[in-house]
Amino acid sequence: MNILIFGPNGSGKGTQGELVKQKYNLAHIESGAIFREHIGGGTDLGKKAKEYIDRGDLVPDDITIPMVLETLKTKGKDGWLLDGFPRNMVQAEKLWEALQKEGLKLDYVIEILLPREIAKNRIMGRRLCKNNNNHPNNIFIDAIKPNGDKCRVCGGDLSTRSDDQDEAAINKRHDIYYNTTDGTLAAAYYFKKLAQDGKTVYIELNGEGTIDAIKEDLLSKLK
Ligand code: AMP
Repeated sequence: MNILIFGPNGSGKGTQGELVKQKYNLAHIESGAIFREHIGGGTDLGKKAKEYIDRGDLVPDDITIPMVLETLKTKGKDGWLLDGFPRNMVQAEKLWEALQKEGLKLDYVIEILLPREIAKNRIMGRRLCKNNNNHPNNIFIDAIKPNGDKCRVCGGDLSTRSDDQDEAAINKRHDIYYNTTDGTLAAAYYFKKLAQDGKTVYIELNGEGTIDAIKEDLLSKLK
């Protein structure tokens, strides 16, 4: 089983991806995580990629594409969930080309839909509980609104993650994601078109619901 997942930062893509990964026992291949490993290991690739990543830009295709395709071959032999790639049209085309060449099927393409303003609020509204990182608190989501300025679960003190409050950085990431001409959504729509020709199955999920509602919707749409 080979699956692609798309969703903007703030859509709960990580959580839903984890569910899919467990259901089919897939290798979770995340382009961002591969870059972080390279940076941590001080490799040449990591050094080259770091300057782009630090600026919030995409790493050039001539570095990214071979790295991801190689990882699919080595770590994804028994099926993969690919996350964070493709992020533009060239990456989409090269991935599809590589799959065709290898005779591999793309079983599902999942897109979590979420309006840009809501995605931004979700990130900026996130609050971290000092006692437990998993206590959900978000000042912009009614279902998990904190109790005043305290954690809704345990009453602990709350704080923000500095990168969650960096509006310029969030906007830059979303500029890339929501670009339907040559950004991540353009890549997603490339596969949506292939699905119309019966070459893959495209699943759209409404990202505005609760995590559980999205999970249920997702599980009902996967075979
Ligand atoms: P992520 O963890 O997916 O947010 O990725 C972190 C950073 O890695 C991104 O901001 C990009 O700089 C880089 N990156 C990850 N995936 C890609 C990709 N498919 N193409 C280009 N750069 C990428």
